[in-house]
Amino acid sequence: MARQSDASLGDVCVLGLGKTGREVAGYLLDQPQGRVSSVTVYGGASSHEGDVTRELEEKGARVVLGTEDVTGRYDLTVASPGISEFSPFFKAAVACSGEVIGEPEFAWRESPRRWVGITGTNGKTTTTTLATQLLRTAGMRAVAVGNIGTLCTAELRDRPDDEWFVAELSSFQLATTRRLHPRVAVLLNVTPDHVEWHGSIEAYAAAKEKIFQNLTADDLAIVSDEDSWCRAVIRRLRERGLRVLTLNVHEVPSPDVTCAAFVRDGRLCVRLDGDEHVLLPVDSMPIKGEHNVQNALAASALAIELGVPDADVEKGILAFRALEHRIEPCGEVRGVRFVNDSKATNTDSVQKALTAFPKGRIVLLLGGHDKGTDLGPLVHDVVAKCKAAVCFGAAGERIASALEDELQGEGGALLVQRAPHLREAFEAAVADAEPGDVVLLSPACSSFDEFSNMAERGRAFKGYVAELGGTKGGM
Ligand code: ADP
Repeated sequence: MARQSDASLGDVCVLGLGKTGREVAGYLLDQPQGRVSSVTVYGGASSHEGDVTRELEEKGARVVLGTEDVTGRYDLTVASPGISEFSPFFKAAVACSGEVIGEPEFAWRESPRRWVGITGTNGKTTTTTLATQLLRTAGMRAVAVGNIGTLCTAELRDRPDDEWFVAELSSFQLATTRRLHPRVAVLLNVTPDHVEWHGSIEAYAAAKEKIFQNLTADDLAIVSDEDSWCRAVIRRLRERGLRVLTLNVHEVPSPDVTCAAFVRDGRLCVRLDGDEHVLLPVDSMPIKGEHNVQNALAASALAIELGVPDADVEKGILAFRALEHRIEPCGEVRGVRFVNDSKATNTDSVQKALTAFPKGRIVLLLGGHDKGTDLGPLVHDVVAKCKAAVCFGAAGERIASALEDELQGEGGALLVQRAPHLREAFEAAVADAEPGDVVLLSPACSSFDEFSNMAERGRAFKGYVAELGGTKGGM
């Protein structure tokens, strides 16, 4: 079993009583006597007594409810990712703690061996899942943790010595890391999203860059060189003398670039310290779209760096199917394919999804809760690539008008329609589609105006397809 840190943690405070807070508090309370002097859990302003609080109290925690006014003295505070660094709650904890850190940082300190970290605005979950699968294909032990759903802390108990933690790390989680040091760290892209939370795109990008803060020359940084934020990161990492592997779906790097992943003659290629690994053809990959080529390049480079043979990389990619709500094929009715990409909650991910289908055959469902993002690049691509767009929900009108403005300015044959909700939008899309077309839910918006989350929206869409008598078709 991996030797876990046995240093004393002293008086520990946990902020938040959601999934993270409960897991961390439970872990602390289960530590051998002497490791933790006390555990105090602050539930936050709207917290109240319940089964969980009673259970924690029975195990010896002090639980403070209904307030964010943290008092006392703590050696360490572990904050849940939903609590912003800029919130009074977090600041109150900083004022009375030796250190305030997030949950992945806490888990890393407890068991720092064999970590890889994956971040980016889009593609984290797909890359994390695929990378985990590639390691497992080669017979290595690996578990996907972090933002993906399984907390890092939940996997700490009985962690085997040789197990890799493949951690999906969000900008929220990275904002509160200090010593976390993965052996391989991946940055897939930085595009505007969650800027409200971080205050500015600069702060958001800086949080993502923290994934590299403790890397040394023996480690590997894998970074896209296809957006300006990432390219600036590459320059800084090179200045630190780190090994940087660049990801580029569109261009083959010059021979003097020793570490890169790219597509040449239609095949995935990974060049690592000058050695080239020519892998499978892009067209044979079951997951489609340019963005998935990028995700596959990142996962392959990571796996090869950790010793996975090329044949297992290929086998693992061929066996990998689209995850739920991510360009997920969900049926075919009278020659029309239906695809659920409910996870596409920002404009960039929709633009990527459009690359997965033939031009002129897409009937796109767009809309939902309006995040107020710039629609310029999105409407350009929708007009260029889609046959029809049905705009629905709170953002529907703004998107439809932007599409019409684009059509007026640039011309094009796109049919623009409006519908109040997803169901009516679906019905309109079905009426527009002909055999050979794809009805794609890739809404560019979050779902909160109509659904509790993107998964509920995706399931609703799949339900409508099933009502039509949809059969699962291949893509
Ligand atoms: P995340 O976990 O970062 O949200 P996912 O793998 O769940 O990423 O993918 C979310 C959506 O983002 C997908 O539906 C897809 O449309 C888009 N996407 C996936 N990978 C990428 C990528 N590498 N670049 C841009 N967009 C992507």
